Amino acid sequence: MRIENFLKKIFFSEELKELEKLKEENRKLKKENKKLKILNSSKDELISAISHEFKNPISIINGYIETILSNELPKDMNDKFLHKIQKNSLRLSELIDRLYLITRLENEKVKVKFTQFDLCETAKNIIESFNSERIKLNCRKTTVFADKTLIEVVIYNLISNALKYSKDEITVNINENFEVIDKGKGINEKEIDLIKQKFYRIAKNEWDNSLGLGLAIVEKILKIHKTHLKIESEKGKGSRFYFDITSLKSKEP
Ligand code: ADP
Repeated sequence: MRIENFLKKIFFSEELKELEKLKEENRKLKKENKKLKILNSSKDELISAISHEFKNPISIINGYIETILSNELPKDMNDKFLHKIQKNSLRLSELIDRLYLITRLENEKVKVKFTQFDLCETAKNIIESFNSERIKLNCRKTTVFADKTLIEVVIYNLISNALKYSKDEITVNINENFEVIDKGKGINEKEIDLIKQKFYRIAKNEWDNSLGLGLAIVEKILKIHKTHLKIESEKGKGSRFYFDITSLKSKEP
């Protein structure tokens, strides 16, 4: 009788072990399945974002080329159309650059090189490149230790968004934070966290040279620099995009 009980115990414990193993495998499969679903949906998002944003400049370029080829246009008209072609092809290459950068950041393929530079001077140079009277910069010499090229991308993205989504003056301040403040269209509370996600755009049906990648790129770059993007915004009133620069001032990345 005792042996019988003993054998039963062994038999059941073996069965239980087998059952636990199966459960564990099932859990793993479910996890993998979830990952695959996410990958698949971001692939779909990528394809729809690309087809949406690439289609327009390509058809504009084709339209102008057709007109140039099928008409004897006066030189000034010809030049005007060539400039339009150039502008749209630059848009396309900017979109491709962003796609390439986010992919490299995600796969940790970006070689990060920390150097010492003045953040105020860097911001000033980027602002000059926008050639816009609307940007006001308040800063003093601020030495930071960071990847200059990547930080330039952050500054460029935040300022170009502020210009894109507002009509009035925008302010760039560098103090304990780097901040870009606009009095533009603002963002509703529910979407503030979502806009940092890859491919997330508020006006999904507008064609505005936007893939919803700018802020995702900013967030990834700031993570490399041990800080992160904060957003305060009110619909219809404007936004403040900022990040703490304390970690950039330290030599230990
Ligand atoms: P993209 O690379 O397409 O410009 P972003 O990731 O930079 O996309 O921005 C995502 C979305 O966040 C935009 O579609 C826009 O709706 C919103 N957004 C970004 N910056 C601002 C801003 N300064 N004011 C209002 N909305 C903004």
